[in-house]
Amino acid sequence: MKQAVKRLIPSQLKQHLGGLRLQFKSIPYRVGNDVECPICGTHYKSFMPFRYRNNAYCPTCKSLERHRYIYLNLRDNLGFYAAPRKKVLHFAPDICLIPSIVQNPFIEYITADYMTSFTSSITIKPDYVMSIDNILFPDETFDLVIAIGILVMVPNDAQAIREVFRVLKPSGYAIFHDPINLNQPQSFSDANLTPDEKQKLYHGHDQRWYYGADYADRLRAQGFAVETDTYAQQIDAKRYGISPNERIYVAKKG
Ligand SMILES: [Zn+2]
Repeated sequence: MKQAVKRLIPSQLKQHLGGLRLQFKSIPYRVGNDVECPICGTHYKSFMPFRYRNNAYCPTCKSLERHRYIYLNLRDNLGFYAAPRKKVLHFAPDICLIPSIVQNPFIEYITADYMTSFTSSITIKPDYVMSIDNILFPDETFDLVIAIGILVMVPNDAQAIREVFRVLKPSGYAIFHDPINLNQPQSFSDANLTPDEKQKLYHGHDQRWYYGADYADRLRAQGFAVETDTYAQQIDAKRYGISPNERIYVAKKG
């Protein structure tokens, strides 16, 4: 009965009700100033839980830990929001990053995603439906490609990395971010895992790769130059709800 009623509610209304429920649930978190979202400027007692993690989700802009870290890196470390003008391709566009990007006069912004069932809580409908391992743009088109949590889902991730390399301009770079266990020396794919092992390693999520300490080497193997990112140790990571071990992989073509 409950399911039948749910099916009768239009999806826009469902989304609106979901938003109201989230704002109501967020009230206890909003009483306090122990953490702050750098993207939307809202402060909280703590961020809200997200899946199995506490202190993770900003109910105002929908950012997670990785988004806040990537935003700070883009803004303060990489000069992303400043001149010169740049052409950017963003896979699985993260909803919390979009307002700052589309308002910026120096960014020509193109979004893409392969999935047709978008995770409405953190991503939005893209400009192009295409896979990162078959990018529908000519060589040397973009100054920057952003791929957050994408490679981990792609069966042939080496092909995807080569495609990103191909569409970047000679001075361009890509930002990759995926779940990585640095205590695991070698990456491996899900083909080697039992369902129980997948549950344990992926917390029930459908991902193709279990990445280890060789992640940067996998990018280098396709031609990129990659330096170790230590920016998380230079910021007030606790204030922004970011692990001091968090890192992104800035992969330079030139
Ligand atoms: Zn926020």
